[in-house]
Amino acid sequence: MFEALSGRLSGVFDRLRRRGALSEADVNEALREVRVALLEADVALPVARDLINKVRERAVGVEIIRSVSPAQQVVKIVNDVLVEALGGGEGDDGQRGIDTNAPAPVAILMVGLQGSGKTTTSGKIALRLRTRDRKKVLLASLDVHRPAAQLQLETLAKQAEVGSLPIIAGQGPLEIAARAMETARRELYDVVVLDTAGRLAIDEALMAEVASVKTMVKPHQTLLVVDAMTGQDAVNTARAFQEVVGVNGIAMTRVDGDARGGAALSMRAVTGAPIRLLGAGEKLDALEDFHPDRIAGRILG
Ligand code: GDP
Repeated sequence: MFEALSGRLSGVFDRLRRRGALSEADVNEALREVRVALLEADVALPVARDLINKVRERAVGVEIIRSVSPAQQVVKIVNDVLVEALGGGEGDDGQRGIDTNAPAPVAILMVGLQGSGKTTTSGKIALRLRTRDRKKVLLASLDVHRPAAQLQLETLAKQAEVGSLPIIAGQGPLEIAARAMETARRELYDVVVLDTAGRLAIDEALMAEVASVKTMVKPHQTLLVVDAMTGQDAVNTARAFQEVVGVNGIAMTRVDGDARGGAALSMRAVTGAPIRLLGAGEKLDALEDFHPDRIAGRILG
């Protein structure tokens, strides 16, 4: 992810550095190029525009043109603006990784479209919580539409060596969710990960089902899983889920693929929810915490 954007930006900044002293026109020209690079990386248009305006305002404010290393100043400002866009502002420290900071059993509701990586990410979260945080984790599949999904989660639970809620044929998502929470209380689980059903595209029935589970369970975390490879579609999906269901974190999967990365830069501005996790492979240990400063560093090379 970000390779193309990173390559484009380093080209822009190298040219700027070679100039030495900078005129306002040089800076404007560079910002135009940065804007094009952002759009080509699939950053949403209003988000790209906003980023560039912020950089321009600050660049003018610090009189970079007369400073010792003006190009370096521009890069620093772009870096700061990217970090903020990715959710790295002050007070955002608690918004990374998996948040289980609530009385047990902590419920984490996984939502998203089919194929986004929801079930895999549920398994990854379970493994991480068991091994790193020593939590007792229960996985439960609420996907009654695809029996294969329930079996897939059971298999992942075995691999991650965590509990899985026994499947009872004929139960609906609300009944399964209630049984998962009851089981967790009775058997003293720390965390319950509820994997909901997805569809290939947003549809009202799916949203209504997920929203009713959320109302009943009142999860501590509602994590939206989106596929980075789908670019702007991922952003539109996130907007729809935010409006109807309400999410307080995003897990972005397939960042190991050659996604252009723009979705990551647009997510915060469009949904207000922080990206907390990155999925970087099919294996259960391929889960990373999202660090805005490190991602900005990767973008700027
Ligand atoms: P769900 O329908 O949303 O539950 O999606 P799944 O968890 O079944 O994932 C769909 C496919 O994507 C599976 O083949 C996963 O192995 C794969 N997958 C999930 N996360 C990642 C990831 O971060 N990177 C890669 N390369 N593949 C992933």
